Amino acid sequence: MVDALFIGPHPDDIEICSGGLALSLARRGYTTGGVDLTAGEAGTRGSRSQREDEAALGAERLGLAFRECLGLPDGHIENDRASRDLVIEVIRRHRPRLVVAPIPLDHHPDHSRAGQLVKEARFLAGCARIGPDLPPWRPGRVLFYPSREVVTPSLVVDVSEVYEEKMAAVKVHASQLHDPDSDEPPTAIASADFLEAIRARDRFYGSQIGVRFGEAYVVDGPLAVDDPLPVVRDMGQSVFL
Ligand SMILES: [Zn+2]
Repeated sequence: MVDALFIGPHPDDIEICSGGLALSLARRGYTTGGVDLTAGEAGTRGSRSQREDEAALGAERLGLAFRECLGLPDGHIENDRASRDLVIEVIRRHRPRLVVAPIPLDHHPDHSRAGQLVKEARFLAGCARIGPDLPPWRPGRVLFYPSREVVTPSLVVDVSEVYEEKMAAVKVHASQLHDPDSDEPPTAIASADFLEAIRARDRFYGSQIGVRFGEAYVVDGPLAVDDPLPVVRDMGQSVFL
């Protein structure tokens, strides 16, 4: 059993979009695990074996108890029955309380399909007669992370304290990032200002809750809260910080 399961379409997405949350939860003593839907084998840069090594290193940096790859085809993730069964199986096997996945409105087709795939699999994993032969298990609502889209977050997680560790975990994906000596084709992530752009995004969402760095998450439907006081803090209300 794992407390939180982080799901990414490609081996660098967990680090880039929800690495701060993974680090924060691990620091609080929760068990966390990672699932990459693809090995990132169709990436413009890097090889499959490089990306496997980087994924393993990233898991170590984030404090994930495990990281596995479901082997779906990079660039061609589909929300079909076979793929849903794979995700249902992984959910039932690890029995997470929380699942974190890309937001279905993401502009990258692998991300948007992954979001919808995880959303449906999370629900179906609780239906005993559907999917692989394992005891049913339905985690709580999915926390969806944006990558480049501007969203109105349902919540922003303060990741200020772990922020440099998050960026260190992002940087293990060196095959994808800027390298002035590389003669591989240019990509968005390999541009010289990519890391600065990620930092600006997280700084922006952090500013929405009055902290230095924050990660934005969107949830379908309302969240149940027993005690609203810790979550109603706002900029300037330092008494609650
Ligand atoms: Zn991706």
